Amino acid sequence: MMNRRQILGMTPGLAMLARLPQTGAATYDLIIKGGRVIDPSVGLDGIRDVGIAGGRIAAVEAGITGDATETLDARGKIVAPGLIDIHTHVGRDAEGPALALEDGVTGFVDAGSAGADNIAAVAAVIRAAPQISGALINIARTGVVSGGELRDINAANVFLAQGAIARNRDVVVGVKVRLSENVVGGYDLEALRRAQQAAAPFDLPVMIHVGQNYSPIRAILPQLKRGDIVTHMYAPPPNSILDDGGRLFPDVAAARRRGIIFDFGNGVNGHFTWDMVERATEQGFWPDTLSTDWNVLSPTTGVVDFPNVMSKLLMLGMPLSEVVACATTRPARAFPAFEDRGTLNVGAPADVALMELREGNFEFVDNYQGTRTSRERLFPFVTVLDGKRVPTGV
Ligand SMILES: [Zn+2]
Repeated sequence: MMNRRQILGMTPGLAMLARLPQTGAATYDLIIKGGRVIDPSVGLDGIRDVGIAGGRIAAVEAGITGDATETLDARGKIVAPGLIDIHTHVGRDAEGPALALEDGVTGFVDAGSAGADNIAAVAAVIRAAPQISGALINIARTGVVSGGELRDINAANVFLAQGAIARNRDVVVGVKVRLSENVVGGYDLEALRRAQQAAAPFDLPVMIHVGQNYSPIRAILPQLKRGDIVTHMYAPPPNSILDDGGRLFPDVAAARRRGIIFDFGNGVNGHFTWDMVERATEQGFWPDTLSTDWNVLSPTTGVVDFPNVMSKLLMLGMPLSEVVACATTRPARAFPAFEDRGTLNVGAPADVALMELREGNFEFVDNYQGTRTSRERLFPFVTVLDGKRVPTGV
């Protein structure tokens, strides 16, 4: 993986590669023409063409001239870095990665579908996925179980988790633990302690799933280190991020200041209410990252797709460029495996999500059947992966 300096250092060389020595005119594999390019990594929001050569971004300019094998008309569309979904369950099914790709998801993290006993199956899906991806290993050896994988705390086995991480270093990018009382009973703090213990020798982040936990959030946060992730940040009480009066606990804001990442985690049941989101965002507590908690059944159960999740924050008043940042640049920074992603900077791998912002009346549902109506919604349009347009409907 390259760091940003190396990417920037490559810029002149790639520009040379993109030129025909005989004529001096640029040539590209693909030009995405005339879209509204939003690249939060460089603060760009404007009408540009994006030239791609050799699987990498070769130019982002107004009115690129030069030959291209293929041209993509992006007028009226949004052109963003490929979306990176850091809380999804894509890895459960062999067909997951291709379906997510159609939604613009060019990078994903399977968040705890599997534990030490069954990580091999998820790892196989991830190794075969066309897009860059990784897995959080569940501290529970079984992975997610609908009845609660940590009802017996002995299922949180540090030794087995570490062995599984060691066998799958190319896949495992962190450790996941679900802390809801219906998952772990009263042992949430012990489960988190074991997740940290499993992660420590590998220097991996831990993602915690919060919501209706036995312990208050103020007791949980001190166990988190810089770079750890709190998903389902807007889960309703008991023990939410807000006090009984609806005010954000100062401990939560302090956790963000010391580098804890707060993630939306859309999901289906129990993970957010409009009331919670509105109260928290009115106090300035917006997500650092957006994620879907998607699985292959999601298109029929309410999560829908990543651009749908992005549309919800847009509805609540988050600026579009910020919404894109929360779905691209920021999640890319959460895991070293994605450090060259979440950008359309010249030299970066050419993963691009084209979306359409449609006007109309769109209803968005929270996890408790609460609804809000918006006048706009983002839809996936075309995905470009490694510089190639992804065929849709396959
Ligand atoms: Zn999940």
